Amino acid sequence: MPRVRPIRTEAIVLRQRPLGDADRICVLFSPTRGRVEAVAKGVRKPLSKMSGHVEPLSRGQFGLAQGRSLYVITDAQTLDTWSPLHDDVERMTEALAMAELVDRSTDADAYSGQLYQLLRQSLEALALTSSPEAVRRWFTLRFLDQQGYRPELDACVRCRAEVGPEGNGYAPADGGVICPSCHGAGHGQRLSSPVFRLLRYMRRSSAESTAQVRVDAAASTELERHLRLSLEQALDGRLRSSSFAEDLARAETIGRSAVKSAAESEREEQHRAAI
Ligand SMILES: [Zn+2]
Repeated sequence: MPRVRPIRTEAIVLRQRPLGDADRICVLFSPTRGRVEAVAKGVRKPLSKMSGHVEPLSRGQFGLAQGRSLYVITDAQTLDTWSPLHDDVERMTEALAMAELVDRSTDADAYSGQLYQLLRQSLEALALTSSPEAVRRWFTLRFLDQQGYRPELDACVRCRAEVGPEGNGYAPADGGVICPSCHGAGHGQRLSSPVFRLLRYMRRSSAESTAQVRVDAAASTELERHLRLSLEQALDGRLRSSSFAEDLARAETIGRSAVKSAAESEREEQHRAAI
């Protein structure tokens, strides 16, 4: 049988989960190969040299060899750990939420350079910010754009009238903002003026600038709802089957370790049998 050459790729570790007594399966996100599941052998043994290089939410350079069903990590060198992410529950929660979105929306062997740069840039901003939630929302808006669900914020999605900041609605299913006239006719949920302005600001500004904006509790709740509904629309119900909020709560309680679902446990069993 011809020997398959090992692959070298940069990647961000989205999450990992235990495999057997000593190994872990790492879900890597590579700019050139998309989502890659790879086994890190022996990393749960005390003297493993590799364990520090496959931490979730770190960026590294990886050597991968094709195993029977999964790749095996042959070597790993950390490039970024973004350590402030790991020292703060709020930052970690938002980072895991971003990683989860990427994990759920990326296929294997898919060129993902643009999304990779977005995630990397967002994790960098998250490591430095005092407003983690704002960075995650900024990421979410751009994520929607990249996935082809760019929310329309300039013209009514029903009648194409140009909109001002007052009296609008928001309808994720229709793709964005609803003018006061169509909103008055019963279309869309209320889109308050501060949230409309903030969405437009987020679109043209950096994560760092977005994080500087003061947002009161009511606007924060409203913005979160609009973004969440748009995400659900974009992911076509995938988030509904495993509630995003539940995952966030779980992520908060388990800190550094990755979010794991029943479906993943099942997959893990299959992998264990296959390796
Ligand atoms: Zn309209």
